[in-house]
Amino acid sequence: MNEPIYVTKPFLPPLKEYEEKLSELWDSHMLSNMGKFHGELERMLKEYLMVPYVMLFVNGHTSLELLIQSMGLTGEVITTPFTFASTTHAIVRNGLEPVFCDINPSDFTIDADKIESLITERTSAIVAVHVYGYPCEVEKIGRIARKYKLKVIYDAAHAFGVKINGIGIGNFGDSSMYSFHATKVFHSIEGGAAVVKNLEMGYRLHQLKNFGLVGEGLVNCPGINGKMNEFQAAMGLCNLKYIDEEIEKRRIISQRYRENLEGKEGIFIPALKESVAYNYAYFPILFEEETLGYSRDTVSWELNQNQIYPRKYFYPLTSSFSCYSDRVKGETPVAEQIASQVLTLPLYGDLKLEDVDRISQIILKIKR
Ligand SMILES: *Cc1c(COP(=O)(O)O)cnc(C)c1O
Repeated sequence: MNEPIYVTKPFLPPLKEYEEKLSELWDSHMLSNMGKFHGELERMLKEYLMVPYVMLFVNGHTSLELLIQSMGLTGEVITTPFTFASTTHAIVRNGLEPVFCDINPSDFTIDADKIESLITERTSAIVAVHVYGYPCEVEKIGRIARKYKLKVIYDAAHAFGVKINGIGIGNFGDSSMYSFHATKVFHSIEGGAAVVKNLEMGYRLHQLKNFGLVGEGLVNCPGINGKMNEFQAAMGLCNLKYIDEEIEKRRIISQRYRENLEGKEGIFIPALKESVAYNYAYFPILFEEETLGYSRDTVSWELNQNQIYPRKYFYPLTSSFSCYSDRVKGETPVAEQIASQVLTLPLYGDLKLEDVDRISQIILKIKR
């Protein structure tokens, strides 16, 4: 009997290495509030991600929500519905209106050619997502933003370590947010970060994540508690040592899926670009019902019968959440179609190639 296989399995470093960090904490009694490991992780991530400065947060969502807040935006924000709930929630929880833009059928990122027609006098920003770690059309989006004086924030929750022409993906736009949740390529159990490009922005964000405190008895704004603690930072430091190895293992696994499944009729896998260094965060694949005679749901069901649990990321679209039913702006037919066809196959460094082959075989043997 095979063990169940889930869509992902969090990476864990050798226990001994985490224990060494823990004994330092037992000695210092400094468990949170920007301690030693927090500072070390910020420095190391800044280098690894090749960005001007990294600010850590308790989780990715808090980084995104506070990042949007720090920009003082108003009115409408153009965004993608093909993402995790967090992206849209972060916009709405800041009192802003999401305007949904359709996505590219080739890589599922926001369709930059459709942004301009959605811009109104009330538009203040674009919040785009490097979904599955596939980079958005950053040049085009940058040009539109400059023309209309809009802020650009990238949700890079999936894009840890991704580079375009050797440039760290966090350098594009006004800022980017990363998630270090346990299920992401790199994690600190829970955690997140924002890319900070200047002192003023760093100052505002720092206040927002620490109750608005600026000195003893001095409170500047109604901030929250968004701090990453030392146990999280310690896990991040342990995991960072293994990140290149983890990404390489994921590359090999993704390659194997590709060899097994690419080019089969009714199956679509996004092509990779020469200019991009990927992190192989996910393996999304589309099943076209008209050609195959069966749907994505059938594929999912067949895999489940074999104790294999892929996920329907991202279905449903965030624009079809019941909490947004009264405020959806924007038509997104491509996103709707992709959401109905997509399945994210299991992918993590420890996944065995024989399991990749077994998963592929189950998929290929499904009869209409
Ligand atoms: C995971 C994720 C987030 C939120 O990150 P957390 O660390 O879980 O709070 C935001 N956006 C996207 C696209 C994500 O996948």
